[in-house]
Amino acid sequence: MLSIIIPVLNEEESLDELYRQIRAVCNQEQIEHEVLLIDDGSTDQSWEKIRELSAAHPEVRGIRFRRNFGKAAALTAGMQNSRGDWILMMDADLQDDPAEIPRFLEKSREGFDVVNGWKVRRLDPWHKVYPSKVFNGMIGKLTGLKLHDHNCGLKLFCREVAQEIRIYGELHRFIPVLAHARGFRVTELAVNHRPREFGHSKYGIIRFLRGFLDLLTVVFLIGYGQRPQHMLGAIGLFFFLIGLTGLTYLTGLWLLMHLFALLPADPIGTRPLLAYSVTSIILGAQAMSLGLLAELIVANTVQQRATYSIRETVSLNESDPA
Ligand code: UDP
Ligand code: MG
Repeated sequence: MLSIIIPVLNEEESLDELYRQIRAVCNQEQIEHEVLLIDDGSTDQSWEKIRELSAAHPEVRGIRFRRNFGKAAALTAGMQNSRGDWILMMDADLQDDPAEIPRFLEKSREGFDVVNGWKVRRLDPWHKVYPSKVFNGMIGKLTGLKLHDHNCGLKLFCREVAQEIRIYGELHRFIPVLAHARGFRVTELAVNHRPREFGHSKYGIIRFLRGFLDLLTVVFLIGYGQRPQHMLGAIGLFFFLIGLTGLTYLTGLWLLMHLFALLPADPIGTRPLLAYSVTSIILGAQAMSLGLLAELIVANTVQQRATYSIRETVSLNESDPA
């Protein structure tokens, strides 16, 4: 079964048409499905629409948040309450085309765990399109997963991905990246994109700043989430050693001048090198103790999920092939 998860924030005008299109394609292709609509604190008639749809169609299910918690929270609520083996997330604004659903399922059958959409011809204002290109390039460089359109609202993935990956804040964009880091097979599929007809976009330019900060978080989590001291400790040690070298040099000079009188006396208290060395030592010690603190957190956090990811087993569970 396929679970279609749709976060909804003030999209009353689109919901009827959106469900009509989903229903048309699923009936035509005989796809067993459920649709989960998550009302993320809408202030319009979205929830009434969801209730109407659900009353008329048993496969439509709804969740209503008390206030706006963000798209990632809405998607998480949807995943936790879904029943399908495959999960498809899409936006509610009709920009994503439900007619693409069969192609996504087909692609997954080629042996992929995650299929990410790619809006080849993107119908959004230029100030969203260009920064987005730069952003996608950066994600590819820093995480090793090169996709054209990480931000695409259309994504299909299997249940294991939903179970193993926790998204919070605005990390929903990084589902493919986080899945890739755990060894899931990720690919992309070119999709049709449509301009927004009703309502307005919920995200502005500020999202790129946040997206960049999120990227730093994700890169750190993927690489050093389980061993923060390897990063912070290395940085700390580097600065500490530089500072130590400077101070050793100055101490040597002082001894030569004052103890052995081999050099003419020249005060070292005013030398820039002294200030640089002391700063460097403090910086290094700070980073190292921060790293130890981070290790303490990792060591004492009850692991909420496995640090590994199993693809298959043999002769281990009863359902395994003999
Ligand atoms: N959305 C949401 N909560 C939010 C912001 C957005 O549920 O806090 C939903 C919104 O209703 C839409 C989807 O997330 O279904 C994508 O939002 P939008 O179309 O505004 O983003 P854009 O297409 O401009 O990137
Ligand atoms: Mg949109």
